Amino acid sequence: MNLSNKAKEINPSITLEITAKAKELKELGVDVVSFGAGEPDFNTPENIIEAAIKAMKDGKTKYTPTSGILDLRKAICKKLNKDNDLNYEPNQIVVSTGAKQSLANAFTAILNKGDEVIIATPYWVSYPELIKLSDGVPVILKTIKENDYKYTINELRSSITRNTKAIVINSPNNPTGSIYTKEELFEIAEFAKENNLIIISDEIYEKLIYDNEKHISIASISEDAYNRTIVINGLSKAYAMTGWRIGYSACNKEIAKLMSSVQSHVTSNINSISQYAAIEALSGPKESINIMIKEFEKRRNYMINRLKQINDLSIIEPKGAFYIMICIDKYYNKSINNEKIKSSLDFSKSILEEEKVAVIPGVAFGLDNYIRLSYATSMEIIEEGLNRLERYLKKLK
Ligand code: PMP
Ligand code: GLU
Repeated sequence: MNLSNKAKEINPSITLEITAKAKELKELGVDVVSFGAGEPDFNTPENIIEAAIKAMKDGKTKYTPTSGILDLRKAICKKLNKDNDLNYEPNQIVVSTGAKQSLANAFTAILNKGDEVIIATPYWVSYPELIKLSDGVPVILKTIKENDYKYTINELRSSITRNTKAIVINSPNNPTGSIYTKEELFEIAEFAKENNLIIISDEIYEKLIYDNEKHISIASISEDAYNRTIVINGLSKAYAMTGWRIGYSACNKEIAKLMSSVQSHVTSNINSISQYAAIEALSGPKESINIMIKEFEKRRNYMINRLKQINDLSIIEPKGAFYIMICIDKYYNKSINNEKIKSSLDFSKSILEEEKVAVIPGVAFGLDNYIRLSYATSMEIIEEGLNRLERYLKKLK
């Protein structure tokens, strides 16, 4: 069949694929330990669930405005003002089916054929594919370990062409957990201004921050940055609401209108029940959220300590989000069952087969000499998984 070349060029999401594979094996009775997707293991807080049940009972089960019900957009404006020092009006907000759809809407709204978007390695797996789906060209910028894999102005300068339309910034970063400082954001904002670029700022991990680090939205750096930034955020991570599919964007009215127009034809609105739950999440008590964040920090510290003791493993210590990157290239060309490990994909396939541990290969993020472990899973599972990892590494000869 003569199907879409564009669709054929898209790689399916490795993070979702591996997570689904681990779940499938578990259902078949295999004792799998999954460090796969970044998905909190906690249930959604009770007050949020109650708000959803109430919405259903009250008959809030109809279509809503495409960009989201007004009360939710007002609650998002309040949140952005309180947490991020950003002032938006409800008509600058578009609520979408996860931050993933917000990103898809953003790229569709701003890109013309051949427009380039700069993303830095390691990048979240979906950025390049979403850009390609909007006929854009992802330009991959290499970053270095010495700078915590954050891009610098010099690196940005080397990637700019007359086709550059936008840059993506993801702070705290998936998969490294790196956080950009105010000074770094200031320089990036200046660079965007000089080159008239749109900034797409993915802030979905803003609440998951450790060691008293601080999240700053690049949109709050200056009036110019505010006008050229599309802020992307959502409730999946901080509120343990991955399955509810709630994301949102905040940007200037012109782009917001285009994003809403795109969405009106693709998914209409996000499901009405999630919208009422989201109002409660944003406006209700926050104790359960703080408990989750403290627990993530405990797990992170445990993992860092244990991994450092294993065979001098080199890791990226995360400042935020819930992932740890482990450098595996010193195991390249070692073998297990006569299979040589030559890439992160070989490594992750082999450890799944041999020890039933699911990890994400770094190649998904453009960093092939790493694997990513998510610590959004219980301490017992983390302990068992690290025991298995240690055993596996000893078997590599
Ligand atoms: N951005 C980043 C950096 C992510 O890791 C994810 C993963 N969930 C998303 C966006 C999308 O999240 P969601 O669609 O669940 O809101
Ligand atoms: N963002 C999460 C991750 O990186 C969930 C999976 C996905 O949406 O790709 O694991």
